[in-house]
Amino acid sequence: MKEHQHQLENLAHFDALTSLPNRTLLADRLTNSMLQCQRREESLAVVFLDLDGFKIINYANGHDVGDALLVAVSKCMKATLREGDTLARIGGDEFVAVLVDLKNIEDVEPTLVRLLQAAATPVLIGNAKLSVTASIGVTIYPQDDTDADQLIRHADQAMYVAKQAGKNRFHLFDTAQDVAIKFHHESLARIQTALDSDEFLLHYQPQVNMRTGEVIGAEALIRWRHPEHGLLPPARFLPLIENHAVSIALGEWVINTALCQITTWQENGLNIPISVNIAAHHLQQDNFVTRLSELLSKHPDLPPSNLTLEVLETSALNDVIQVSATMQACLELGVHFVLDDFGTGYSLLTYLRRLPVDMLKIDQSFVRDMLVDKDDLTIVEGVISLAHAFHKEVIAEGVETIAHISALLLIGCELAQGYGIARPMPASEFPEWVATWKQEHTWLASNATLIDS
Ligand code: C2E
Ligand code: MG
Ligand code: MG
Repeated sequence: MKEHQHQLENLAHFDALTSLPNRTLLADRLTNSMLQCQRREESLAVVFLDLDGFKIINYANGHDVGDALLVAVSKCMKATLREGDTLARIGGDEFVAVLVDLKNIEDVEPTLVRLLQAAATPVLIGNAKLSVTASIGVTIYPQDDTDADQLIRHADQAMYVAKQAGKNRFHLFDTAQDVAIKFHHESLARIQTALDSDEFLLHYQPQVNMRTGEVIGAEALIRWRHPEHGLLPPARFLPLIENHAVSIALGEWVINTALCQITTWQENGLNIPISVNIAAHHLQQDNFVTRLSELLSKHPDLPPSNLTLEVLETSALNDVIQVSATMQACLELGVHFVLDDFGTGYSLLTYLRRLPVDMLKIDQSFVRDMLVDKDDLTIVEGVISLAHAFHKEVIAEGVETIAHISALLLIGCELAQGYGIARPMPASEFPEWVATWKQEHTWLASNATLIDS
């Protein structure tokens, strides 16, 4: 009976072909080794090995030969390990090794090299000399601070990278990258939730004619009213969703919210066109025009000309011809375009010529320093002349001081937005601001010495 029980235990814990520990015993040993690591403040490595080219040999020479090869290779590999280490067979040609007692992470490398050599040792079976290689993925615990299952999965992922990179090599699992990816997935999900639970809002920054004082519109700028972190600017969350589906859902939310806002203001006797920022990725969606017209049709009383789209990251516009066609179709709906951050992207002359835009917005980086930096002033002047030459309007953003206003008027730019005029504000404060702006403009005008010259 003892003998029989022993046999049963063997069956439950060891692989019948190679006599190596199986998946069950591996899980036990790995869990124990992890505990020991914690006690001794050491590291261990989980090594996932997959033989390259084994399946071909198996098919070509038959299963018996394949089995013999597996036995021989696993013996060679086992011989390279130290006593406390484990080599388990967990599938056809898949093995997992647990290397314990690592003082330094670098300690693991010689063992990996030996494992690769062992796997590639030619084996004589019958009269045939056969050989395979191995692709190896490795992760280190507790640097990769997770449970036993997950460690094996991470090593498996790293093994896949080794295969992709050309086989017969090892690849170390990148914990930092994994954390970044996980964080990214969580952020995407969190932003979708924020959208569903109405945590986003738009602030509006006035755009004015500095000479006449007329308020020509408002730029909608998104904010996130985060339950824990407070009011977040777009730079804190838009980069996380760049090129993801949720960025399009958010973009549509912005358009729709802006359209509602125009309507609300109009009902209160305030006629303020709104410009919204559109990511290049969003604009390049095949159904952009259809979706835009659907959004517009929800506001049948609103002339679409009240909506302007500011095209961002022009350098990310891949196909100028397609984008131009999209924009043309939007123009036919009545919606106009501005090229945002003008001067920063590439091929701006191409865009200027090909894209049907009404206005260029001089990037704030040039405007900010135009008073102290001759090159920036030259660029600002250049953009203004380009705009004139191509019969486009031009607006300066980032206008922070009266001195900027004076200088811009002097060189032929009348339209502006910036902290010097008003900061972005909640929609509810906008009507009040418009009411007081008139006086303020008179004051500004008398202080901007060059305003009438
Ligand atoms: P942008 O479209 O170029 O918007 C101008 C940014 O400059 C805004 O920052 C605005 O608050 C800020 N600004 C305005 N006047 C001044 C000034 O005088 N001085 C300085 N230093 N800054 C000024 P914000 O709101 O943080 O937005 C940053 C960027 O995020 C925007 O740049 C735009 O690219 C993007 N963004 C904002 N809202 C949206 C949106 O709804 N959708 C998309 N796709 N992008 C958006
Ligand atoms: Mg903008
Ligand atoms: Mg800008």
